[in-house]
Amino acid sequence: MGRANEGDLRDGLSAAELFVPGEGVAYDDFIVLPGHIDFHFQDVELSTRFTRRVPLRLPFVSSPMDTVTEHAMAIGLACLGGLGVLHYNNSVAEQAEEVRKVKRYENGFITRPVVLGPQQKIKDVDEIKARYGFSGIPITEDGTVHGRVIGIVTNRDIEFEPDRERSLSEVMTRDLVTGKAGITLRQAYDLLRSSKKGKIPIVDEAGRLVSLVSRRDMVKRRDYPDATKDSRGQLRVAAAISTRDEDRERASALVEAGVDVIVVDAAQGDSVYELRMLEWLKATYPQVDVMAGNVVTQAQCARLIDAGADGLRIGMGPGSICTTQGTMAVGRAQATAVFQSARLARARGVPLIADGGVAQIGHIAKALALGASSVMMGYMFAGTEESPGEYFYENGVRLKRYRGMASLEAMARGGEKRYVTKADDRKIKVAQGVAGSVLDKGPLETYVPYLVQGLRQSLQDMGVRSLALLHEQLESGALRLERRSHAAQIEGGVHGLYSYTESQLGMRG
Ligand code: GDP
Ligand code: GDP
Ligand code: 5GP
Repeated sequence: MGRANEGDLRDGLSAAELFVPGEGVAYDDFIVLPGHIDFHFQDVELSTRFTRRVPLRLPFVSSPMDTVTEHAMAIGLACLGGLGVLHYNNSVAEQAEEVRKVKRYENGFITRPVVLGPQQKIKDVDEIKARYGFSGIPITEDGTVHGRVIGIVTNRDIEFEPDRERSLSEVMTRDLVTGKAGITLRQAYDLLRSSKKGKIPIVDEAGRLVSLVSRRDMVKRRDYPDATKDSRGQLRVAAAISTRDEDRERASALVEAGVDVIVVDAAQGDSVYELRMLEWLKATYPQVDVMAGNVVTQAQCARLIDAGADGLRIGMGPGSICTTQGTMAVGRAQATAVFQSARLARARGVPLIADGGVAQIGHIAKALALGASSVMMGYMFAGTEESPGEYFYENGVRLKRYRGMASLEAMARGGEKRYVTKADDRKIKVAQGVAGSVLDKGPLETYVPYLVQGLRQSLQDMGVRSLALLHEQLESGALRLERRSHAAQIEGGVHGLYSYTESQLGMRG
């Protein structure tokens, strides 16, 4: 007998064979068979896309939930290569302010720096510091952003001044190091280095302010080389809105504040309300990518893509805090939803995010293996330092609150917009989520690298070097999968021990 060829030795099933009609498969129902390893896990490439025009270095996105994503989460995730989607359980002004905080956080050239005039007071700088967190303020003759620069005030100039009523003309530094308009960012940073200053105003020939560069941004660039940034060097951020007509105003405020992607958020995204919103967004703000959802079938995906969606959000009912499938009798098992939707979305060139039901690293890997370009997580990011809310203790365990946006508690604050499409349908509330608590997961700074390494090792075990190759193998059938019986699932988890300790990072399931 000669050597068997690879084809004969194929084991398991391709995804197309595994997902048979009429049966809903959850992440835990199947397993990926190992491949051949000929590379180090550090070399596994996780770059991907969130929407058509928004690339990510990491496939991690946080849910628009009021116990998950506000500016701290969005900044933290974007710095590390992922993305945050800001929730909208707040006023239009509040949500726009959250966007501004993320966009302001890091810059290349700060093209509209906050400036003050010479007669203004030290307390005005205090106010800016309290609102935005920075205090390097160019002083222009007339106090306008492109006025003639006559000085600069930084923290050091005012730190020990007891009289906050003093005018800035008395404390500002006047002999400035400036850069000429038209220099490159690299040249500006060389100037920051050689002058040893913290900021350098860039001015035109008449001495008028064009922009500002900050040493702190050089440091951020060095510390976060993978950050998710736009062409101006600012962090990217997405924000959710509902499908209601009144949220057009919200969308406009978000765009005005510089949002990169609008996520049209509905538990059942295949509605005339959502299609109308999508069409309006694409016609009004063609430069802003729109993520649409949530949907779980190919027909639904097709309708949203036809209406202009730049990305699709997949999931109905798998969320850890979610009771939709029980209450509404509608939804789909998440692995099936992702696989079926991805087949259509890939053919149409639209990236797809798997939303909900991710409780451990293996679920992230499976979602990606089934064709998702990125993964949206609430449960995984709730309980990190960057999620909203304070830690508390219960039985000596450090916890944070985590609640569904359709829990009675969140709906009382306006969260039902996602679940009820018309404002006057709100009198009776049917909850589709619960409120609870999750374990402390520490800062994103340590938690995300843990997720990254776990995911890289998972892909290494599959024998796949990158997400792009993973999707190729999914399509060609080279990626081999297998159903797990109930006993196999028990066998694949911890079993038979008298006692054991859970991993520190609090994995569920
Ligand atoms: P530091 O004292 O060196 O930390 O400087 P600042 O307090 O001026 O903060 C600088 C940081 O705030 C940089 O990351 C800037 O990109 C960011 N920032 C965003 N918008 C502005 C702005 O209008 N003015 C200044 N000075 N910084 C800004
Ligand atoms: P800080 O460390 O956050 O206070 O900020 P900087 O390092 O930017 O500023 C330190 C001191 O240098 C302050 O007194 C500033 O007013 C002054 N300073 C900042 N930028 C310039 C500049 O371009 N030229 C000169 N000569 N002084 C500057
Ligand atoms: P998790 O990561 O916790 O498993 O799921 C988070 C996802 O659940 C969110 O991104 C969102 O799509 C969904 N979700 C958030 N709140 C609720 C809720 O109250 N009910 C339902 N049905 N889904 C929710």
